Amino acid sequence: MTSLKRLYVLLCGFEILPKTVSTRGLGGRFILSEPVCAYLLDTDRGWVLLDAGLNPANGRDRARMESRFWSQKMTPPVIRDAHLLETQLANVGVAFGDIRHVILSHLHYDHAGYLGHFTHARISIQRREHEHAFGAEPGMAYFRDEYDLPGLQWDLRDGDWEAQPGLRLIDTRGHTSGHQSAIVTLPEEGTFVLPFDAGDLAENFDGEILPGETCDDAAALQAIRRIKAVIADEQAQCLLFHDPVAIQSIRLCPEFYR
Ligand SMILES: [Zn+2]
Repeated sequence: MTSLKRLYVLLCGFEILPKTVSTRGLGGRFILSEPVCAYLLDTDRGWVLLDAGLNPANGRDRARMESRFWSQKMTPPVIRDAHLLETQLANVGVAFGDIRHVILSHLHYDHAGYLGHFTHARISIQRREHEHAFGAEPGMAYFRDEYDLPGLQWDLRDGDWEAQPGLRLIDTRGHTSGHQSAIVTLPEEGTFVLPFDAGDLAENFDGEILPGETCDDAAALQAIRRIKAVIADEQAQCLLFHDPVAIQSIRLCPEFYR
C-alpha cells in the first residue's frame, strides 16, 4: 500500500569539496563537485518535500560567501538559475505554499536552505537532531540563521516512523546525532532508498567507508549497513544525494519516478 504517486528529484546546486569530506581519510588531494538534491513527492495527501535545498545566497551574496566559506578556507557552492528550488517547483506547477509537509534528514546547511519559505508547513525532524542543532556550537555546517527562525512548526520524531503509507523514515544517526533517511514506495517503480548523508558516494556503501564527518563512528557504520540491508531485502533502488557520477543518470525534475 502506498499513498505516493510521483517522486521528483530536484538538483539544487553543487558543493566544491575535498573528497575526504565524503570518504574518511581517503582522497584528500581530490576536489569533487558534489550535487545537492531535494525530493518532491506528489501524494494522495498533498505535496511533501524531503530536505529543503541550498540557500542561493550562499553562492551569490559576496558577504555571505566570505563569512561562511572563504574565511573558513572553503569554496562556496555553485547555484545556477536552473538549480533554484522555486524554478524547479514552478516547472511542475507547485508553489512553496502548496507544500504542507517538509521532512528533513538533518540540519546541515545543504539540507535546510529554504526553510524560511515554509512557516506554513509542518517540519518533521528527529528530536535528537533538533536538540543538537539548537544547542551551543552545533558545528560549522549548521547555519543557524537558516533554521532558527520564528514561525517554523517543528514536528519532533524519535527513531523510525511512517509519514504516510509508502513513506518511511529510518534512524540513520552517525553522520549527525539525529540523521534520518527515507524509504519511498511508488506504485509502479517500487521502492527507492534515499540515504541523504548517511553515505555521500557509491563507494561509502560498496566499501563501507565512513563519511568524513560523524558524531559516532560505530553508529555511522551501522547506518551504512542498515541502508544496504534495506536495498537488498526490499530490492530497492538507491538515489544518492551527493554522488557526482550517479546524479548524471538520475531522472531530474520535471521528469519523475512513478
Ligand atoms: Zn550533512
